[in-house]
Amino acid sequence: MLYLSRRIDFSAMHSYRIATWSEKKNQQIFGLCSNINGHGHDYKLEVMVKGNLNQKSGIVVNTVDIKQIVGGLVEKELDGKFLNKEHPFFMTHIPTTENIVGYLWEAIAPQLKGCTLHQLRLHENPYLYAEKGEEDMVTLSRKYHFSSAHRLHSDQLSDEENVKLFGKCNNPNGHGHNYYLDVFVKGIPDQVTGMIVDLAELDEIVENVVLNKFDHKHLNLDTNEFEGLNPTSEVMAKVIYDMLSPHISNLYKIGLWETEKNYFEYLGTEEVSV
Ligand SMILES: [Zn+2]
Ligand SMILES: [Zn+2]
Repeated sequence: MLYLSRRIDFSAMHSYRIATWSEKKNQQIFGLCSNINGHGHDYKLEVMVKGNLNQKSGIVVNTVDIKQIVGGLVEKELDGKFLNKEHPFFMTHIPTTENIVGYLWEAIAPQLKGCTLHQLRLHENPYLYAEKGEEDMVTLSRKYHFSSAHRLHSDQLSDEENVKLFGKCNNPNGHGHNYYLDVFVKGIPDQVTGMIVDLAELDEIVENVVLNKFDHKHLNLDTNEFEGLNPTSEVMAKVIYDMLSPHISNLYKIGLWETEKNYFEYLGTEEVSV
C-alpha cells in the first residue's frame, strides 16, 4: 500500500450563526465568527489517498486526476463563495472547519477511482487545521507560540555525563528557543454548533494553564512544573499534556516544535525506560 498527497487551495467566506438564536447568544457562542456579514479564509486542503502500485506505470494514481476531481468539486462548490448563503449543505450546517472537512470527505471519497481516500487535512490558517480519516471523529489542531530558556541537565547523571550527552545545551546559564505548541483535540462535531471544541475557550485554557507560565521564562529556574525534571522537549510535551488534560475533556495529543527542525509528540501514554 502506498500513500500520496495533493494540495488544493481555495478561498471561501463564512459566518457562524444560528438563525433561531438571539444576536447576543450568537456572539456569546461564536465570538467574532458570528459577524452576520461574514469573513473569509484562504483554505489549504491536503488530500491523501492510498492504493497499490501499478507495476506498468509506476504510479498508484495520477495526481492530475486527483486535482481534477477534488479541484473541480472545490472550484464549483466552495471557491469564492459565501458558504452559508451559496452552498446548500452549509445553509443548514455551520461551515466550521470541522464540518467543511466532514462534508468534503463525503463528497470526495465516492468519486475517487483506483485509490481510496485516506485522510483530509483542511487548514483554515497557519494556526488551525481540521483532519479527518475513515473514522467519524475529526481532529482539530491549534498552534500556539511561546519563548523560553532552559538548561538540559539531569540530576541523575554526573556532571561529566551531562556534558557528554547534552553538549552546549548543558550550558550552566541555559539557552532559549521559539517553541510552537500544537494542541490536538478529537471528537464528533456538535450537531448544532458544528464544533468539537470552543476555540475561544481552548485559547483561554492554553493561555492560562501553559503560556502564561512558560512564555519568556527560564523553565528550570522560574517554573514549578520542571522542579527536579530535565526540561527536554520530550519531558515538556508530557508536562504540558498533563497540565492541559484536566481542563480539556477531548484532548488527543500534544505536539511541540522546539525548533523548525525538531518536533516531539505525546499522546498521553508513556513507558519509561531506565
Ligand atoms: Zn472563519
Ligand atoms: Zn534547547
